[in-house]
Amino acid sequence: MRNLTLTAAALLAGGTLLSTGLPASAQETFVTIGTGGVTGVYYPTGGAIQRLVNRGRAEHGVRVAVESTGGSVFNLNAIANGELDMGVAQSDWQYYAYNGGHENFPEANPELRSVFSLHGEPFTVLARADADIHTFEDLAGHRVNIGNPGSGQRGTMEVVMAAYGWDESTFSQVSELQSSEQAQALCDNNVDAIVFTVGHPSGSIQEATTTCDTRLIPVDGEVIDQLVADNPYYAYSIIPGGMYEGNPDDVRTFGVKATFVTSTALSDDVVYTIVAAVFDNFDQFRQLHPAFATLEPEQMIHDGLSAPLHDGAVRYYTEQGWM
Ligand code: GLU
Repeated sequence: MRNLTLTAAALLAGGTLLSTGLPASAQETFVTIGTGGVTGVYYPTGGAIQRLVNRGRAEHGVRVAVESTGGSVFNLNAIANGELDMGVAQSDWQYYAYNGGHENFPEANPELRSVFSLHGEPFTVLARADADIHTFEDLAGHRVNIGNPGSGQRGTMEVVMAAYGWDESTFSQVSELQSSEQAQALCDNNVDAIVFTVGHPSGSIQEATTTCDTRLIPVDGEVIDQLVADNPYYAYSIIPGGMYEGNPDDVRTFGVKATFVTSTALSDDVVYTIVAAVFDNFDQFRQLHPAFATLEPEQMIHDGLSAPLHDGAVRYYTEQGWM
């Protein structure tokens, strides 16, 4: 969080005090939100929060800026080291960032705080229709994009690979493309399959399914049953049939939740302001992305959250009588 006095801001911008629309005594607080690739759902999620917060900034003095990033694991690390104030992250990686004990997060971060959870993120495997891939096991021997380091899907893919006893040599070729690059890689026939832990519908999966012939691959069976049974942040979910071109049937896979997180370094007043901007305008928030259609506040303050709620969020939820 950076506090910038208006005088300094006006000097930097070469503008006048009047141009900000704030009283000369006010301070503006800048808050950065880390998201994901631009064709995912995290990036428009950050945009939705930004829109609702920033339109009230003349009254409350909080201004949000959204950054496209490598994803969950990057965001959680950047929050821990103060490079970002807030971020969107998968519930599995929130769990490990707070508790430690995973190679992505060897150390616990006791300063991590939950704000709310969002849409479900099914672990989504999409293959070229002409590749002989019908089940997750069929990925063995194929060219697979396992995701960029720092993304949530890369981490979750590694967990699934470990559960199957696989490593990178299981595939004929492995790539580490970012989510925003993988639809094109699939349709250019540079890879046979891509993985993305993402809400639906997402721009990335839409891009792939409308550009070339594809098949969504179910991720279930005994190995996944065990993963879901052993880990509180995993649950089976369905990618609805007909959501994407060429994929008329429901597809079963497991998934996590997208969550919105910050740290104790961000003040209660700022977190309260951001939470209020979202929930005071909740009907509008829900309309800002189709993946938000079924969100309910009572679930958003419980589901998928391992780190304690930030005190500023607790203040708002208590006022609403939600806790
Ligand atoms: N779940 C992905 C990640 O953690 C990002 C999904 C998105 O961009 O919507 O990196």
